[in-house]
Amino acid sequence: MNTCDVAIVGGGPAGLAAGLYASRGMLKTVVFEKQISGGQIVTTDWVENYPAFPDGISGSDLGELMARQAQDYGTQIELFVSVTSITRGENGDFILETDNDESWQAHCVILASGAVPHKLEIPGEADYTGRGVSWCATCDGALYRDKVVAVIGGGDSAVEEALFLTKFASKVYLIHRRNEFRAMPVAVQRAKAHEKIELVLSSVPVEIEGDGSRVTGLRVRSILNDSERLLEVNGVFEFVGIKPLNELAVELVDAEILDAGGGYIPVDPDGSVRDIPGLFVAGDLTLGPLKQVVTAAASGATAGFSALRYLDNYAHIPQ
Ligand code: NAP
Repeated sequence: MNTCDVAIVGGGPAGLAAGLYASRGMLKTVVFEKQISGGQIVTTDWVENYPAFPDGISGSDLGELMARQAQDYGTQIELFVSVTSITRGENGDFILETDNDESWQAHCVILASGAVPHKLEIPGEADYTGRGVSWCATCDGALYRDKVVAVIGGGDSAVEEALFLTKFASKVYLIHRRNEFRAMPVAVQRAKAHEKIELVLSSVPVEIEGDGSRVTGLRVRSILNDSERLLEVNGVFEFVGIKPLNELAVELVDAEILDAGGGYIPVDPDGSVRDIPGLFVAGDLTLGPLKQVVTAAASGATAGFSALRYLDNYAHIPQ
């Protein structure tokens, strides 16, 4: 059995900031990340609102810098490793099992597993996933040079990624079910003014069409008069929100608490979960109004610091 003071699940901004604070506090700290460091931001082309980068920074560079800083202070990062279960051992420590058949015993756990994109679940989506349907403009945008794409959603992701896709595509339809966007006004203004972007408002996608090998069109329906329109597109990018990755929390946190947060976990100001000593939650998995890199990093820092305080008294905590 491997041992550590703090096990952090998720290597995005929240997990890496938690690692930085915990390892600077001289705790033996391990971050488990099922993909590469950075979490969701590695799928973001350009981050414009993380303080101290006035010209912006690519999501992957930001993730790499955060990982390097945490590692420099001793955080061990286990990449491409998924934590498959977390239980409470007899002495009150947490026992984590991983998909590389290892077990870890940790005094504290910080859950920073984040969230994943929602799917539209309309006809054609499953058939053409990876063949024109995508949830990552940074990963797939370059495949659409001089092609026509549709972006669905009205939040920050949709508007920012629509703007990013104009670098490659000849035309970008931005399809939103209302006529007002929830994205930040500065980005909405830029999208509205962009010559390659055509807004299709008050409309919902109903079917993704293809020729058997690739996407050829997106059928949308107006919610104002129910009329349908077929947009000829080569790619469909869906940005219709995110859902929390809370599977591991289900084993530890009361179902009532999870339900009350709609799957997100309400935490106390120090990042702890009420009545579960030693468990902290940070980043997009927490219930909160703002899901940004800066808020994820801040809540990770709080959780890392709180783990340190918790372990200061650990020997005195009745197990
Ligand atoms: P989001 O803010 O939840 O927006 C999702 C959008 O998809 C909404 O406009 C919603 O419409 C629409 N939508 C939801 N279900 C739909 C459906 N079935 N059919 C059609 N449209 C649907 O999600 P997000 O843009 O992925 O952002 C997630 C979080 O990350 C947010 O807190 C966001 O602020 C943050 N984020 C921040 C940045 C940044 O600061 N640079 C960048 C990306 C993301 P309605 O508006 O009508 O509900």
